[in-house]
Amino acid sequence: MNKKTFALTLIPFLMLNACNKENNTETADTTKNAEVKKVAEKVEVKPSVAPKTLSKEELAKYKPNELGLIMVLEYHSIARPEARWTRTPENFRKDLETLYKKNYYLTHLRDFVNNTMDVPLGKTPVILTFDDAREDQFKYIKDKSGNQIIDPDCGVGVIEAFTKKHPDFGKAATFFVLPSVGFGQTREDAKKKFEFLANNGYEIGNHTLNHPMLETMKDDKVKQEIAENVIGVQKLVPGYNVDSLAYPYGSVPKNLKAVESGEYKGTKYKNIAAFLVGSEPSYASISKKFNAFKIPRIQAIQSEFDRHFGFFKSIPSYQYISDGNKETLTIPSKLPDGLKNSLKDQFKAKVITY
Ligand SMILES: [Zn+2]
Repeated sequence: MNKKTFALTLIPFLMLNACNKENNTETADTTKNAEVKKVAEKVEVKPSVAPKTLSKEELAKYKPNELGLIMVLEYHSIARPEARWTRTPENFRKDLETLYKKNYYLTHLRDFVNNTMDVPLGKTPVILTFDDAREDQFKYIKDKSGNQIIDPDCGVGVIEAFTKKHPDFGKAATFFVLPSVGFGQTREDAKKKFEFLANNGYEIGNHTLNHPMLETMKDDKVKQEIAENVIGVQKLVPGYNVDSLAYPYGSVPKNLKAVESGEYKGTKYKNIAAFLVGSEPSYASISKKFNAFKIPRIQAIQSEFDRHFGFFKSIPSYQYISDGNKETLTIPSKLPDGLKNSLKDQFKAKVITY
């Protein structure tokens, strides 16, 4: 298949068997005072009304495209040896290094879905996700003095060290958890881990209670599975807003309304998005082609990285590149076929084309 066809069709999602954030001057001269006030008002109003527009040179250099595709990466285990559902700590560090060097920027899942991304000029948002709340994603160990520390080789350990070293990389990752698994170790540890995630720039998402195939289940059972996950998470982090879901095995229930919102035994939930298992970059949320309840993800394995980096290298006009301004949407006038005429009408007033 040639690259253009690939881009146009965005390969059907593979069902993979896995899953496994006055001036107070007092003066008698009232006229003068009023003038000062006028000037102050002018100065205050100006920056918020006129968003910074990019120069011709900046547009040519960075080629922003905020209708471009975005990768949502899906990790399972961070352990040795490397396997189909396992990335080694060394390779996970290498992934972050590669993304950083290629000008990607770790972005919050909620911001990606709600179109509230705050990504610096010229950078491409990327969303990290982890499924199943496995111990090797977030593990405590004891240091030489016997103090509990985050294992530098677990998923969170790798992200913490890398983002500390590279603060211009952003910091974000979403953990689609099974509360009963709770990253292994003790229940006391689970509570500390969930609280750490909630308080340190990470997001906690829903992966149901029992990890079932949702497509074969009736609505009330689907709702129970989702709500009981929320109950489990909120036991560990009271009041936490669990508002996104990763379908176990990528198995999508027949009725998406049961995913969007529901209630079970007095616990209500409302999701803003739900994620598949495979296997393409996602449209931006401002695109008509974006379906918030069927967002594709990319398996974080070498062959998939190679395939998608290769694709964006061969047709760069498909890649989302930020204009660095939350108030505007900068989109090239010449778009590849797969992105043409796909902007939702409600965003047209914010668009700058070039
Ligand atoms: Zn899973």
